[in-house]
Amino acid sequence: MDKKEKKYYLELLNKEKERIYKNLGYLKEGIGSAEGGIPTHIADYGTDEFEKGLGINLSDEERKILENINLAIEKIEKNRYGICERCNKKIGASRLKVLPYARYCIKCQKEKEKGGY
Ligand SMILES: [Zn+2]
Repeated sequence: MDKKEKKYYLELLNKEKERIYKNLGYLKEGIGSAEGGIPTHIADYGTDEFEKGLGINLSDEERKILENINLAIEKIEKNRYGICERCNKKIGASRLKVLPYARYCIKCQKEKEKGGY
């Protein structure tokens, strides 16, 4: 994965994060430092710090997504992004574009949902 791709997915992930925060109603219009951007100091927070800092309650679903997003961002930094955590194969770009925080390839995800492990 080259720099350009990393940047692309990082943007996707940050957008997704921002969408969740906005849904929660804690990011009001005009607070962002850049247009459409989320304040860097919030973007840099992990899920726990973010919750503690603002005293908010995320739903289990949102919490899971945010955790996966943070994991994915970490993986981009460690050059492990886009690799299935279960079989270590590459996750298809078409899947990552729809689900940038996917942790498993489609095959493993399906097996996981079936209760395969
Ligand atoms: Zn897999």
